[in-house]
Amino acid sequence: MEGKKRIVSGMRPTGLLHLGNLHGALANWVKMQDTYDCYFFIADWHALTSDYEDTRLISRNVTEMMVDWLSAGLDPERSTLFVQSRVKEHAELFLLLSMITPVPWLERNPTYKDQILQLSNKDLSTFGFLGYPVLQAADIIIYKADGVPVGVDQVPHVEISREIARRFNYFYGNVFPEPESILTTTPKILGLDRRKMSKSYNNAIFISENPKELSAKAAKMITDPQRARKSDPGNPDVCNVFEFHKLYSDPKTVKRINLECRKAEIGCVECKQEMAGNLIRTLEPIREKRKFYESHPELLNEIIAEGVRKAGIIAARTMEDVRTAMKI
Ligand code: SF4
Repeated sequence: MEGKKRIVSGMRPTGLLHLGNLHGALANWVKMQDTYDCYFFIADWHALTSDYEDTRLISRNVTEMMVDWLSAGLDPERSTLFVQSRVKEHAELFLLLSMITPVPWLERNPTYKDQILQLSNKDLSTFGFLGYPVLQAADIIIYKADGVPVGVDQVPHVEISREIARRFNYFYGNVFPEPESILTTTPKILGLDRRKMSKSYNNAIFISENPKELSAKAAKMITDPQRARKSDPGNPDVCNVFEFHKLYSDPKTVKRINLECRKAEIGCVECKQEMAGNLIRTLEPIREKRKFYESHPELLNEIIAEGVRKAGIIAARTMEDVRTAMKI
């Protein structure tokens, strides 16, 4: 796309998307489609870096993720949507970049250290896991991306990609622009139990859930922990349900709930039901689109094939530049 800056970002296919994902990366991507030349990929090779033992679900998760993306508003007419493993040039560039990446750069990656501690039930002492930032660098710079949309905690990843691109350019000549981090903000959205929304905590609300499931989950949400009875005044500022109202209810409703809660004029059961109704209404168009794509798998395959084709053209062109620069 002439004149537009190019951005690249990916998501690991770990299963159905939840509201945290929707309001996190995905909502920003949907907005960015108007401003940038967007390349969004499903990072199935990255799923292998930590889940290499059991790969049975990866391919199904790829399909589910693409359905979620399209339903939530990613548009194949405006963005290039593809699957990482189908553009083999990522692997070639990963290999070449791994030759020039010093191991201490990877060992000091904060996510590496953190994940080794967090996922102590998995053996992550693999070459692939240590080297995943090199694969990430390949994913980004193969499209000569100007930027990568990230939250604050992912800035160090983009920094490693910049360093790897710089090192390549230093050795072989100026092939890659250094991608910038484009900082994105996301609303605070917690899980049912007020911890970070995550599949592994079993506290997530999925965007594909039906109205009955959504109402049942809303009913389970933890509210202001100090409010034991309906006659106790509540504090919406510490209540997760109120955060959801801010996302799904109109401003008038949010204002009213804020007052009624503080004066104990509304009970939490009623408040949750009202929020659930608005959540269900907001997700309705997404659910409709989901049904459409689920019943048109051939269209889904076409969209992926077209995205792979478009991404492959740029990736192949870059690899020609890389091979020429490296004289191989
Ligand atoms: S009334 Fe609503 S905002 Fe107030 S504590 Fe209960 S659920 Fe939260």
